[in-house]
Order: sequence, then C-alpha cells, then structure tokens
Amino acid sequence: MKPIARRPRIVAGNWKMHRTAPEAAALARELASLRAADPASSSAPVVVLCPAAPALESAARALAGSGMALGAQNLHSEPQGAYTGEYSGAMLASVGCRWVIVGHSERRHGMGETDAQVAAKLRAANRDGLVPIVCVGETLAEREANRTEEVLVRQTTTAFHGLGASDLAAVVAYEPVWAIGTGKVASPEQARDAHRLIRGTLDAVLGRGAGEAMPILYGGSVNPGNAAALFAERDVDGALVGGASLEAASFWRIVIAAASAG
Ligand code: PEP
Repeated sequence: MKPIARRPRIVAGNWKMHRTAPEAAALARELASLRAADPASSSAPVVVLCPAAPALESAARALAGSGMALGAQNLHSEPQGAYTGEYSGAMLASVGCRWVIVGHSERRHGMGETDAQVAAKLRAANRDGLVPIVCVGETLAEREANRTEEVLVRQTTTAFHGLGASDLAAVVAYEPVWAIGTGKVASPEQARDAHRLIRGTLDAVLGRGAGEAMPILYGGSVNPGNAAALFAERDVDGALVGGASLEAASFWRIVIAAASAG
C-alpha cells in the first residue's frame, strides 16, 4: 500500500494588536533574514505571519520573496457592503494575504462571535481564495465541567457542516482558551486527544479520511521550550503562536522545532 504523505507542518504567528506598520515590517524582515540564513529553510514548515490589519501591506513588502506567507487575523463574511470597520477576504487577498485566522477565542469570547458567524467566515475565506485557520477550543470552566468533547464537537461540526472535503482548503487550530496567553500549555497528551477528537469529528462531518488529511495546529502558550514535545505527537501538525511570535529569535526556534520534528 502507498504510504500516506505527511500532512504539511505549519507554524503561524498571531501578532494580535501588536506592532505598527513599520514595526511589523522590521519583524518580518528579521524573520526573512533568519530563514535565508538557515540551510534547512527549504524543508522548513509553512510559515504564516498574521500582523494586525493596518500592518499587512508593509509586512507583505518585507516578506516578498522570503518564502513565508501572510495571513490576517479576521475577515467579514460578506464580500462588500455597509460594514464600518470591517474588511472582506478579497480586500485581504489584494494586499497579499493567503491565510486568515477565523474564530479565534479572543473574538468568540471577547466580541461575541458565534459558531454560525465562524462558519460563514470559513466559507467567505474559501470564496475569496484564502485558507482559514479555524480556531476551536474549550474554556477552563468547560474543561473542568467535562464539557471539552461537547464543545470541540459542536464548534467543529458547525464550522464545517455542509461543506465538501474535496473543494475545501482549511486548517484547524486547537486552542484551549485556558492556555492562551496564560503560560499554561496543554500537555502533549491533552493536545493529542483533542486533535484526535477533532479528526473524528471532521470525518463525521466531511466524510471518511477528511480528519486524517486536515492539518491541525495546537495553540496556547507555545514557546521554544515546549514546542518540540508538542510536535512529537503525530497528530500535532504545527502551532498557532501568539506571544512567542513577537520576538523573531523565539518564533524561529519554534519553526526549527517543527522542521526537526520531520
Ligand atoms: C493565540 O493567540 O492564538 C495564542 C496561542 O497565544 P499565546 O501563544 O500567547 O498563548
């Protein structure tokens, strides 16, 4: 039997509301030099940088020719219209984005973004030629109430319901809310179990094999010290990194850990 090719490894940096346009360009240039200086860079994972919207264009210029990709942190589900302060996937694509984070917990819990809105954004991203990084994850209260499985199944099912695996381009990020920005990382076993549950749910929603094919990233307090143990889990295909992505050297050590994981 032909061996199944490994899913791509992906390391994405979520810069949140940090870095002005010139600061983002400087950070992107630093990362581009680290990548250029690294002999293993041709086998390095897919690297996606997600600056704040006003910094996208300057980061795109700084990244040109680096082999790294640009992503946004959010999009509106409509292609255009009277939505003050919002922007569409086509607008993001026009400044060089190929990726977009969808359903980050800071939007779900901080701004009341619903499962249905996340589903609409996922579809809008694909309509506009972007790959969504669809975030799912339980809060501490939900984990302590043994509701992790219910939450992950609900969020994943609603996001992907009704889509066909064959024409879908997407990545999932398992981000337990209690681990984001707290310094409390999930154990490799907790990440593995959650990723397996998400894969099973994707199979149920999209059809058999869809879960095995989908890259699933872990996010929540990933740093250069804990990345390798997480990436050693076969079901962990990479990371969505917040705090540690704001410093070029620490982010690059996470990228190297992903590359070394094979
Ligand atoms: C995130 O914001 O997606 C994230 C994982 O943040 P941190 O790495 O800082 O926990």
